[in-house]
Amino acid sequence: MNMQCIFCSNELDGSDEHIIPQCINGRLHSRELICSKCNNKFGRKLDPTFRETFKVVLHVLKIGNVEHLKLQADNDAAYIRSNSTGTIKAIPQGVEITKTEDGKIALSITGPDHIETYKAIAKKSIRMFGAKALEGKFEVIKTQTLSGPLKTSIGILLTPSLRLALNKIIVEYYCHCGLDRTSIKAMINAVDQLDEGIENIRYCNSSQLMRKPSDNEISHLIIIRSDKNRKILYAYIELFNIVCGFIMLQENYQGNPVNYVYHQDAITRKSLTEEVSVDLDQMEDIFAGIEHNVDTFAERHQSRIVMDSIKERSSIILEELETEHKEGRITSEQLKMTYMERSAYLVAHASIFEFPDLISDFNEAELKKINHIHSLIRADKKEAFIIYYQEFIGHKFEFEDKKGLYTMKEFHFAHHKKREDIEMLKVYCHFISQEDGSNDLIPATNIFKAVGIPFMEELFVWH
Ligand SMILES: [Zn+2]
Repeated sequence: MNMQCIFCSNELDGSDEHIIPQCINGRLHSRELICSKCNNKFGRKLDPTFRETFKVVLHVLKIGNVEHLKLQADNDAAYIRSNSTGTIKAIPQGVEITKTEDGKIALSITGPDHIETYKAIAKKSIRMFGAKALEGKFEVIKTQTLSGPLKTSIGILLTPSLRLALNKIIVEYYCHCGLDRTSIKAMINAVDQLDEGIENIRYCNSSQLMRKPSDNEISHLIIIRSDKNRKILYAYIELFNIVCGFIMLQENYQGNPVNYVYHQDAITRKSLTEEVSVDLDQMEDIFAGIEHNVDTFAERHQSRIVMDSIKERSSIILEELETEHKEGRITSEQLKMTYMERSAYLVAHASIFEFPDLISDFNEAELKKINHIHSLIRADKKEAFIIYYQEFIGHKFEFEDKKGLYTMKEFHFAHHKKREDIEMLKVYCHFISQEDGSNDLIPATNIFKAVGIPFMEELFVWH
């Protein structure tokens, strides 16, 4: 066993080093790598780099103590959102990642809509999940007037400091695997010297052709692997599947086959064990940036929220029914039937009011109503929309739960997930308080409903 620090050769002193830092939810650690002096040095220098680089990601995933995030309401007032106290009341589905029109990724915090057409639509959709599930009871989600989108750019910068930080991870993992240190001596020294000029890393996988994360995957991955045909030893790393990098460790590699993989869920920190393949043939010559990875990250995160939310609520249903069964109030046959019905209702309800993109094959009439509930219009109808509803602009409104008058300043459009390959926009009304100048963005159809403007679905095509 090695007793010396891999960087400075001091005696090891039991210092516990996280190979992927704890601040981004890394789990892999070792007391047999580095001394406390080096540990402190890297902690001071590199942890802030990870925290800063993934600031928004950490907030979205509720990792660590990225407690407050500064949010911007349509280029005017700034808000602070607290993860724990919820300065802006957040409900599970309230956090959504959208794209603004200039292509920036934005974090939106919105409340659900509350529309009279709830029942009719839910009933229509229920046919997809099983009949009769709606009979008897019907709940609607409480109205919440304050809505997003407050936004912040995900803004991941591939800085020299990040390059160094990725090198640190790879060097430590390499040594942790017990591989020959002399062959990467230069890399070890560069990391030890905190040399930000180290340029060995190739950012890659910008189209996820080298490796595509599986459904709902949000992970950290490190691979040290030899390639027999290419005669190379290389490292491959992914953090949150957004930042992906390749490092050539050894050319003309003649040694034994090497294949070390560390793969963990970046939210739960659980190990992921399925085999990971990386197709080096697909490594791009010119790195195309991380935008695609951010987009698909947002999609996988959204689908995890959906799955977790539904799983959690259906397990509550099951618990309730099991209690009733234990107490002899229902038979096991009734338990099964009721569970199926209530779960079906749950999915139907969630798919309409919370996660409108969950189901792709709504029919046209249903789609119109869903788009209405969520204030979604076709992107190519934007100009028509503005003209049709322009009388709203400049009008003064009063809100039940807010003081004073609000002036409608303009419509705000945020990119929404494509529907059947059609670009969709979510429309918000942007209000300014006459009292204190604060800003509010409220989904357009909430406002139409509140002021009794009829929904001109025949005149104005929402889908
Ligand atoms: Zn040391």
